[in-house]
Amino acid sequence: MKIIQIPLLRDNYGYLLICEKTRQTAIIDPSEAEPVLRRAEQEQINLKAILNTHHHRDHTGGNEGILARHSLEVHGHKSDAGRIPGLTHGVDEEDEIKIGELTGKVFFIPGHTTGHVAYLFANNLFCGDTLFTAGCGRIFEGTPEQMHASLRKLMALPDDTKVYCGHEYTESNLRFAVTLEPKNHKLVSRFERVQGLRSRGVSTVPSTMEEEKQTNPFLRWDSKELQASLKTETPHLRLDPVAIFAKVRQLKDSF
Ligand code: ZN
Ligand code: FE
Repeated sequence: MKIIQIPLLRDNYGYLLICEKTRQTAIIDPSEAEPVLRRAEQEQINLKAILNTHHHRDHTGGNEGILARHSLEVHGHKSDAGRIPGLTHGVDEEDEIKIGELTGKVFFIPGHTTGHVAYLFANNLFCGDTLFTAGCGRIFEGTPEQMHASLRKLMALPDDTKVYCGHEYTESNLRFAVTLEPKNHKLVSRFERVQGLRSRGVSTVPSTMEEEKQTNPFLRWDSKELQASLKTETPHLRLDPVAIFAKVRQLKDSF
């Protein structure tokens, strides 16, 4: 399996997922058509499907332009028929998708939108705007409970799972994270490393699930240091995972 990351729009990432044996290829979250088609032409591949994680334009904006040139399957959550242009395969939790000899598994992870899904191929997780490197998406359509449950579901994946998210937001996410856990050494060193990479324009995606569990404030409701930071801000905060997660989300929204 080969994965090609394609920078799109201002800070989006689309991906080509290639079965190296059959050359069958999926396009994940094409924000725009032209750069994706141009990159695809450089490879000897057969485009087979578009996989959309959710309906937002910065993840589906290229669907129509690509479909005008290629007749492809379009996968997205079944509830997003009518919101994802060209949807042919409405998918749901535990569905499987074949790209050549590769098999992907669907995770239903609502919260950012009500029809958000992730796709897992071997240990490569394409999670759109739900789990970001060092962050998570805003809760536009769902509830904090839903988003928390969705993140918990992704956290249950093995530590070596690679996190391919929809945006290059790592540096600003970490700038916020260190305000809550300034003594988390893994977090501080990740921030330094990421600032170095970004100053040279290098991508910081993917990360690993292990790194996210150690440094992503939206997965760290068990951290005593994070809890203490929230308590100084909100003395009466209930210390249960959903309330902690919701508070972190609220603080990030106005950071
Ligand atoms: Zn989005
Ligand atoms: Fe997005």
